[in-house]
Amino acid sequence: MTLTAIFDLDGTLLDSDAALVGAFLTLGVDRDAITFGHVIAEECARLGLSLDDYVAAYDTGAAMPFPGVEGLLEHLDRWAICSNKHPQSGRDELTRLGWRPQVAMFADAFSGPKRLEPVLAAMDLHPGEVVFVGDTAHDRWCATALGIPFALAGWNPRAGSAPGDIVLATPTDLLDLLGG
Ligand SMILES: [Mg+2]
Repeated sequence: MTLTAIFDLDGTLLDSDAALVGAFLTLGVDRDAITFGHVIAEECARLGLSLDDYVAAYDTGAAMPFPGVEGLLEHLDRWAICSNKHPQSGRDELTRLGWRPQVAMFADAFSGPKRLEPVLAAMDLHPGEVVFVGDTAHDRWCATALGIPFALAGWNPRAGSAPGDIVLATPTDLLDLLGG
């Protein structure tokens, strides 16, 4: 059986920490106050920033794919993005990179932090037919809440593993997991 991959974007496919941090620093946030993996509107509210100012300060040209990610995506017929990223920033990134996931859901697709149910519904897939690849504790929760295998983007040095994770050393390691 072949599994379908759903990916988080920032910190999983895109090495976007520098871009995220850069926007916050531009807006005067202390580097020590910056954390990752949040709904951007909530994080801006926590830091006392306007979301519009954040989106304007975010350099959509700054984030690069992690090494091996583009080679992986070339092998996939069908894949999806499930991200807390602001939809404008997220869609700009996909356009810039020429990436065409079958489904891409960003923060505006969820009422609150992202969940995988709407992505599965849009792809007409069941939890047993997918793998979720991510880099944060919330990503892990999204997968385990539905009994979906969670593959950790082990190529991101910031990603910490937990028991039960499938830790991928490189993006192309996912191909073995997906089977065929
Ligand atoms: Mg992430």
